[in-house]
Amino acid sequence: MQYHLDTIPVWDAFHEGGECPLCSLQGKLEQDFVDLALGGAAMEPDVRIASNEKGYCARHLTLLYQSQRRLPMALVVHTHLMETHARLKPALERAASPAPAKGGLFSKKAAEDPIQVLEKALEKAVSTCVMCERIESNMDRYLYTVLHLYQHDAEFQRTFQESAGFCLPHTRALLVMAGKHMHGAKRATFAADLARIQEAALTRLEGELYQFTQMFDYRSQGKDFGSSRDALPRTMTKLRGGVTPEKNG
Ligand SMILES: [Zn+2]
Ligand SMILES: [Zn+2]
Repeated sequence: MQYHLDTIPVWDAFHEGGECPLCSLQGKLEQDFVDLALGGAAMEPDVRIASNEKGYCARHLTLLYQSQRRLPMALVVHTHLMETHARLKPALERAASPAPAKGGLFSKKAAEDPIQVLEKALEKAVSTCVMCERIESNMDRYLYTVLHLYQHDAEFQRTFQESAGFCLPHTRALLVMAGKHMHGAKRATFAADLARIQEAALTRLEGELYQFTQMFDYRSQGKDFGSSRDALPRTMTKLRGGVTPEKNG
C-alpha cells in the first residue's frame, strides 16, 4: 500500500518531545475526530452510514459523552442503536424461544445453535469502532512518514536517534511497518537504532520512577527530584501508550 506522506505533523510531534511522539499524534487525531463526530460533518450521509453500522468503542463513546454535545450525540447513538437492534433481533428472538431440541441423528449442527448464533452476532456488534478505524488508518500514514523521513532526511534521523523513544505499542507498530516497507540492511539498521533508543528509555524511566518513590520517604524532604516528579504518568505512556498528563507531576 502506498501512503501519502504527512511530514509537518510528524516533525511537530518529534519537536514536542515526550515519551512517545506517535502517541501525541494519535491524541491529536482522536481529539479532531471527537470534534468532527458530533459537528456538522457528522450528519453527512456517508459519515452517518459508517457510524450507524460500526458504532463506537467504550473509550470513544466516553470521549464523545465528555464533549458535552448531548443532542447530536443522542441522535447519532439512536440511529446506531436501531441498526444494532435490527441486526441482533433475529438472533435474540431465536434464543429467546428456542425450538425443542431434537435428539439422535437430527441433532442440530453447532453453527445453527441459537445460543452460538447470538454469541456471534453480539461479538460482531461490539468489535467495531468507526473512530478506532479512522485513527488506525491515519496512524499508518504517520508511521510510514516516520520511516520515510528516517531514510531520506538526515536531520530527522538524528532527531529520531536522540529522541526519548516511543511507547511499547508504537515501538511494535514501527517494527511492523518497517517489516512491510524496509528491507535488508536498512531494516536492520532502523531496528537496531530503535532497540537502542528503547533500551536507553526503559533504563532511564526505571531510574526516574525509583527516584519518584523516594519522594515519599520522610528522609528525602527538601531534596530536588527534578524530572522524576512526573515519572509515573510518563511510565504509563511508555508502557501502554496513550496521552497522560505529563506536566502534572
Ligand atoms: Zn505511543
Ligand atoms: Zn474506538
